[in-house]
Parts: sequence; C-alpha cells; structure tokens
Amino acid sequence: NRYVTIKTHVDGAPEESDFELKASAVALSLEPGSNAVIVKNLYVSIDPYQLNRMKSYSSSQKSSDFAVGIIPGEAIDTYGVGKVLISENSEFQEDDIVAGLLNWGEYSVIKPGGMLNKLNPMGFPLSYHVGILGFSGLTAYAGFFEVCKPKRGEKVFVSAASGSVGNLVGQYAKLIGCYVVGCAGSKDKVALLKEKLGFDEAFNYKEETDLVSTLKRYFPDGIDIYFDNVGAEMQEAAIVNMKIHGRIAVCGVISEYTDAGKRAAPSMIDVIYKRIKIQGFLASDYLNIFTDFLSTTRDHLRTGKIKPLEDISDGVESIPCAFISLYRGQNIGKKIVKIAEE
Ligand code: NDP
Repeated sequence: NRYVTIKTHVDGAPEESDFELKASAVALSLEPGSNAVIVKNLYVSIDPYQLNRMKSYSSSQKSSDFAVGIIPGEAIDTYGVGKVLISENSEFQEDDIVAGLLNWGEYSVIKPGGMLNKLNPMGFPLSYHVGILGFSGLTAYAGFFEVCKPKRGEKVFVSAASGSVGNLVGQYAKLIGCYVVGCAGSKDKVALLKEKLGFDEAFNYKEETDLVSTLKRYFPDGIDIYFDNVGAEMQEAAIVNMKIHGRIAVCGVISEYTDAGKRAAPSMIDVIYKRIKIQGFLASDYLNIFTDFLSTTRDHLRTGKIKPLEDISDGVESIPCAFISLYRGQNIGKKIVKIAEE
C-alpha cells in the first residue's frame, strides 16, 4: 500500500519536497468481528483545507483549532470513492462501491464509526461523486442557497470562480436568474467562465491594481451577494462595494492559508451602515439538505444546465503535485486524483 504523507509540518506555500510517498503492508484479512472494512481507493479529493491541517502547532494559526492536525509520516484522510475489498461489517459486501473518509493512498482501512456509505453512482462517473455530486457541490449549494439566500435578479460576485466550489456557485446563480461576475487567475480561466459556464462577466484579478475600482466597474450599483473563497484584499474590496443589506458567505480564505500574517481588515463602517451580513459556514453543517442538493444537481447535470468541471490527475504519486497545483492556480475545476481503475 503506497500512501502520501508530509515529511514535516508545512507552514508556508506547499512544495513537492514537503511530501513523501511511503509504503506499508496492507492486511489481506480482517479480524473476525472487527466490523472493519478494507477499501481499494479509486478517486480521492484534493482540497485546499488540508494545508491548514499540515501547519505546525506552534504557528499562529493553530491547525488543531479548526481540524484534526496531520501527523508527519501518517496517512492523510480525505473524502473519496472506492471499492470494498474485504468486509467484516455486515453493511458492506465485497465489490460494493462506497464513498467516505478514505486517505491519500491506495487502500483505506475503515474502522467501526468511520465515515463510509454505499454509493449508487446513478449513471454518473464515479469522479463526480467526489466533486460536483459530493462535498464540493454541497459546499456551493448550501453556501449559496442557505447562507446567501439569493433572489432572482440579484448581483453576485464569486472569487476563485473557476475552482471547484466557485464555478458551481456561479452556475447555480445563473440558473436562478442572477447577474454573475467571477474572478480567476488567468486569461484562459476568464474565457472559460464567460464562454463555457455562462458567467455574465469575469476578470483576471492578477491584472488588476486597484480591486475596489475593479469591482465598481463590474458592479456600478453595488454587489448583493459576495461568495468569498479567497479572503484578504478581495474581501476588503468587496465589502466597500456591497449594497445595503448585502450578504457575504465566507466559504474559504485560500490567500491567507499560505501566509500566517495575512488577514482581511474589512471596513466595519461599511458593514454597519450597509447592514451587511457576513457568515462563515461549513458544508458539514448542511448534511440535512444533501438529498435535496443531490437531486437538484443531478437533474441539472442530466439536462445539461450545469456543466461539470473536473481536473483529474493519475496515480497516487501525483497527489503532492495535484495538491500544490491548488496553491499555484493550476487547477481548473474540481481537483481529483484517480488512484485505480474500478
Ligand atoms: P479550488 O478548486 O477553487 O482551488 C483553489 C483555487 O484558488 C486555485 O485554482 C486558484 O485559482 C485560487 N487561489 C489559490 N491561491 C490563491 C490566492 N493566493 N489568491 C486568490 N486565489 C487563489 O478549491 P475549492 O473550490 O476546493 O475551494 C475553494 C475555497 O473554498 C477554499 O478557500 C476552500 O478552503 C473553501 N472550502 C470551504 C468549505 C467549507 O465547508 N466552508 C468546503 C470546501 C472548500 P485562481 O486561478 O483563481 O487564482
């Protein structure tokens, strides 16, 4: 069993040298009555938040405050889809396709209490169940509909808009008749947002020098909803441009993850006088709407109203590169690593 781990804690931007591929023996049998399951990993999710779990406990942003820290040398758990190899749990049979908390490796041993569910692919590729029909999709759906409470015709701004969560927020917003502007870090991504995903406008934030006036250009009458994936300067500029009673869903602050000293310092006067609502959220708080999210998104995928955007690398050894690519803006859509054929 080969798996990817960190050599030591990672406090800045991740580099390939921070990771190593280790090998361990995988048991070919389970203790009878152990209730455990051995899963052959097929597709694993690559997510920015893992960096916050890799930080050293001494850094100012303690990973242990937010999520369970990763111990160097040990396997790194992640959401993924796999196939049951051996089961001592009566709920699972050999060859069942499952989704749950696997790891960045070739096999996962799921102990009783571990997160694992049987998966009905419903005719969609298994990779969709890691991204658009999995947690990334739920994040976009819950964050946009439940946190932002959008209305038809409202003006929506999304950052990291070509990413896994961002592209879907923009697509959901277009479906209910909002005006949508996204920002991303390259010319090609901007073209994709406008030409393939139907965003009304998009811009390359790396080419802009004054984000406050950039947003004023796209939203002369102000922003109703800002879906924040990046934090820092973009969040500050959005707040200055919000309308009265605007809503901001703080989904992630990726530009702050690599720099412990970087924080947004939004204008609270704007927040007060414009009665802006700013709400952070975790997708895991919205498991109660998973079924609703799934049936809506599945229908939109079938009718072609929502386009899937995935970026898949091959093989367990590609995980470090895949992860680093998120921090270099090299991914387009949901970053996934395919570990093995079904
Ligand atoms: P993405 O697919 O969006 O990948 C990350 C993207 O972020 C990159 O492609 C890059 O695109 C952009 N980016 C990277 N560094 C910076 C930077 N310094 N400044 C601005 N943009 C940057 O990842 P996800 O869709 O999985 O995640 C998006 C956000 O949502 C993250 O902040 C993540 O932590 C958060 N999240 C939150 C969840 C929750 O429950 N609250 C659940 C899942 C994700 P570009 O070319 O535009 O720079």
